[in-house]
Amino acid sequence: MISYVMSGYTRLRNLPFILRGDSPEKKLRLTLLIAGVASILAGCYMLLVNFGRDNFTLFGLYLFSTLLGGYISLAAFSNGLTRNLYIITHALLGIIVLLFLLDNQHLSGKHSEYNYLIALTAGAALVLRLQSVYLSRVFPLICLAVYLFFISTGLIWENGRFLLNIPQETGFYFVNCFIPVSALLLTVFTYRGNYSETDLIKRDLADAIAHNQLEIYYQPQVDSERRLIGFEALLRWKHPVKGFIAPGVFIPVAEKSGLIIPIGRWVLEHMLQQMEAWDRDYPGQQLLFSINISPLQLMHRDFTQETLLTLSHYKIRPERLKFEITETTFIYDQPRISNVIRHFSQLGVKWAIDDFGVGYSSLKSLSDFAIDDIKIDKSLIMHIFENTSAAIIVHKTIELSRAMGLNVLAEGIESEEYFEHLRNKGCHLFQGYHFARPLPAQEAVSWIKKSVGAA
Ligand code: C2E
Ligand code: CA
Ligand code: CA
Repeated sequence: MISYVMSGYTRLRNLPFILRGDSPEKKLRLTLLIAGVASILAGCYMLLVNFGRDNFTLFGLYLFSTLLGGYISLAAFSNGLTRNLYIITHALLGIIVLLFLLDNQHLSGKHSEYNYLIALTAGAALVLRLQSVYLSRVFPLICLAVYLFFISTGLIWENGRFLLNIPQETGFYFVNCFIPVSALLLTVFTYRGNYSETDLIKRDLADAIAHNQLEIYYQPQVDSERRLIGFEALLRWKHPVKGFIAPGVFIPVAEKSGLIIPIGRWVLEHMLQQMEAWDRDYPGQQLLFSINISPLQLMHRDFTQETLLTLSHYKIRPERLKFEITETTFIYDQPRISNVIRHFSQLGVKWAIDDFGVGYSSLKSLSDFAIDDIKIDKSLIMHIFENTSAAIIVHKTIELSRAMGLNVLAEGIESEEYFEHLRNKGCHLFQGYHFARPLPAQEAVSWIKKSVGAA
């Protein structure tokens, strides 16, 4: 009971979260809240009317629709948005169909009730435009078909049987309903279809997890003796039509659309599964696994709780995990970020600053936050031999990190020359094509075998 009250309180506290900002997810949640409250109000009104008329079948129906309104309002604040959308859309369609069949006391006004289905058809086509093909296209077409069926048959359920109320001049009537509503739906499809490449990626990305199109590649990280110390998990998206899409393209889209939250969850979960599998096959190895955490993930209200829950499902010591964040993370709510970092550090998780030297650089953040590693950005590493400034930044960053007791990793090592040079400058961790490209799990195994054999 107490936990129920607490979760209700948390939902209320998060109310401003869904009302602020304009990401598609927030708009969708706001639409759900509006639809939920409207269903509660309309449902309560009809509930009272039918209670007064002693019509308990309709009372039950409107009670259900009021409860559905409550469910829709709660869904606006809950996780599992996609699953809720499937439930809500079909429950709404089901209620409207029951309403057509059962609430037939005022047959002459029946036509006005069909408007609910027009609203659901056009509303679903618009609101669900970034959801799966089924929700964004098939479902509105199903609504249109149900609408046409009811307006042309006038089907109702009365006295224990179905009755038809076919309108006069059926053909004329049908055409007059079919053409404008289909035109309305086509207009919505056309305007929402005015996609940029980013919109298309966003739409398809929503399906990528469900359709098994994501895969994690593992790029080896080595020490100054070229010994494997661990891997960085890097996400790959194999689009069924466009082929391989680089994370540099889809991660920013995922961040803008809020999809980075479920995607980040998926990456952590699958990386831990892979670690467990490798621990079973190669017991004794203590490789470290780095994972990229977007600022939005870190700022998400459920990040700490969810991540802890996920970690508790796997037999992986937190000391073997490294969370990579970029400097941009520090422009967000610093006390909150600091709390999250400290929380996981206390458990043993390590934190690395990724792409160091090219973002919002604040050396102060190194002392303010419980950071363990610095990863010098590859754009600086790659220019150390031709750009004096890049070389100075890299050399000084190595010195500074070592002086502060931090590990320093150079990424983007593409040849022996860079490796030798940076090793001589004091850098002791390396990652780059010179050692290995990001590898699919089955190829990364050969690295693990080698490292187990060498131990
Ligand atoms: P990053 O975290 O800086 O990852 C390193 C990138 O450098 C990877 O690109 C890797 O393939 C590439 N790289 C490694 N060694 C070399 C080299 O020697 N030369 C060159 N030219 N490139 C090298 P990738 O896999 O395309 O990932 C790009 C970015 O996408 C990552 O940059 C990271 O910011 C983001 N990303 C990838 N996976 C995830 C993920 O699961 N979650 C989040 N939030 N971001 C991810
Ligand atoms: Ca990284
Ligand atoms: Ca990087």
